[in-house]
Amino acid sequence: MGDSQTNELINKNRKEKKEMRLQDKVALVTGAGRGIGRAIAERFAVEGARVVVNDVNGESAQETVEMIKTQGGTAAPIEGDTSQETHVERMVQFVVDTYGGLDILVNNAGVEIWKPIHEMTAQEWDRIMGINLRGVFLVSKHAVRQMLSRNRAGQIVNMASVAGLVSFPGLGAYSTSKHGVIGLTKTMALELRPHNIRVNAVCPAFIDTDMAGRLLELLKSQGLPQDDLLMQNQGRLGHPGEVANLALFLASDESSFMSGAAVPIDNGCTAQ
Ligand code: NAD
Repeated sequence: MGDSQTNELINKNRKEKKEMRLQDKVALVTGAGRGIGRAIAERFAVEGARVVVNDVNGESAQETVEMIKTQGGTAAPIEGDTSQETHVERMVQFVVDTYGGLDILVNNAGVEIWKPIHEMTAQEWDRIMGINLRGVFLVSKHAVRQMLSRNRAGQIVNMASVAGLVSFPGLGAYSTSKHGVIGLTKTMALELRPHNIRVNAVCPAFIDTDMAGRLLELLKSQGLPQDDLLMQNQGRLGHPGEVANLALFLASDESSFMSGAAVPIDNGCTAQ
């Protein structure tokens, strides 16, 4: 069953039981114009959240919003680059102006690179850190200020990676940025515990998105046996909807005693 069919089924079941796990919550999901972020935005909307869909690509953000509305959900798009503080300030203000507050932040926007450290330019390094780590810091900073100003509980879910727990040759910059995201997650969890804001990180292995497609193609072009590698490490590709399920759990009250965790979703990849 595809992600949209799953969403439809969940939507129907919840409506009948009148129980939705994110009822009346306002969520901001960054990088939600495609892939994992889109699946999270859709799943949150199905569970009753009003979702602000951010992407650096405004058209794809709009597409996600249309998909959510088709499924009966509530969403609004905002174009913006998470690594630029002026964009981030505008984004968070848009959430408040549109839906009156912010309860859930998913720091999902991220970019990849596969290059040995000795071949990487400083610009390439800065781009990865700028989006994957600085972006998470900036959006968190402004979202948390907003949450604190309303004195209400909040949830933050940071998209790390199995590469935030272990590393692989060629992933120096990406892996460093994702280890950084996990460090930031732990620090924010401690800083924000007195304010009832929980912060957790999700650590997926390869998930079936454009990003994974690009990385696997690159491996293939370098003569690396991508299928063998994939099968050996994780058995199969994950689905964006499977990551969305974990993000939903972490964003909902069902995970009320969890904060500062970095949760692998990897079919055993990091267990070996
Ligand atoms: P993707 O490339 O398919 O989609 C990423 C989306 O983020 C795109 O719509 C892109 O336009 C947007 N984006 C990029 N930079 C942005 C920025 N500065 N501001 C706002 N939006 C921006 O990627 P994906 O596979 O869906 O990955 C989503 C997240 O999950 C990333 O943080 C990635 O590192 C992480 N992740 C992915 C995988 C995987 O195998 N796909 C595995 C582990 C972790």
